[in-house]
Amino acid sequence: MKNENVIEVEELTKKFGEFYAVNKISFEVKKGEIFGFLGANGAGKTTAMKMLIGISHPTSGRAEVAGFDVFTQSESIKKNIGYMSQKFALYDDLTVSENINFFGGIYGLSSSEIKEKKNHLISVLGLGDIANKLVGSLPLGWKQKLSFSVSLLHTPKIVFLDEPTGGVDPITRRQFWEMIYKAADEGTTIFVTTHYMDEAEYCNRVSIMVEGKIEALDTPKNLKRRFNVDSMNDVFLKLARNIE
Ligand code: ATP
Repeated sequence: MKNENVIEVEELTKKFGEFYAVNKISFEVKKGEIFGFLGANGAGKTTAMKMLIGISHPTSGRAEVAGFDVFTQSESIKKNIGYMSQKFALYDDLTVSENINFFGGIYGLSSSEIKEKKNHLISVLGLGDIANKLVGSLPLGWKQKLSFSVSLLHTPKIVFLDEPTGGVDPITRRQFWEMIYKAADEGTTIFVTTHYMDEAEYCNRVSIMVEGKIEALDTPKNLKRRFNVDSMNDVFLKLARNIE
């Protein structure tokens, strides 16, 4: 794996029966990059992401994540990444503080590390008033921001975010992206799927999947130039309709 790459994927494939959910995708992601992974519903994004985080065995191809092979070193991958799934938003029936304790423990942090991280999070996110409230009582945007922070508790090299802002309002989405930028500035690589095309514009590079294949991969600026349009939304529509 090249030094600056934290993800390398070559012809990675997943078949369900005779159906190719992911069909020979290849790409690289560099350290600290915000990499947008786009595609219509059913394009194969979640299936690809599951292979990269070591919970689904590829049919063929090659992939290294954080320097580890997805076929043989999935346990090491899990220790070096953070993951926030579409539905996952911590435990509703635990308080903010208890959730941080719980996940810190799962990630293998010591109690003093957990305490330190918790105090830091509470001050950075301004959670002082709600640290002892049940997560279930918080608005969705807060849950998502907290969930993102918890996925970073063990300072992973890469964080995988599967539609992290689904259903939250535009202001909270903007705040969420500020958190993403901050994590990337600190050297964490961000691998993010989204349905919001304005969010695609915030990524350093964007890949667009259509029916299991990566049909385009470049900076938002270059993609707009190539398709001769003004927005990522139009790039997406042109690709999905197969017109260039
Ligand atoms: P969404 O945005 O809706 O999450 P996606 O791009 O993540 O979509 P996937 O969930 O990866 O898409 O699904 C890709 C295709 O693979 C779909 O046609 C889906 O029905 C199929 N698929 C996913 N998991 C399985 C499975 N376990 N068995 C059979 N087919 C599957």
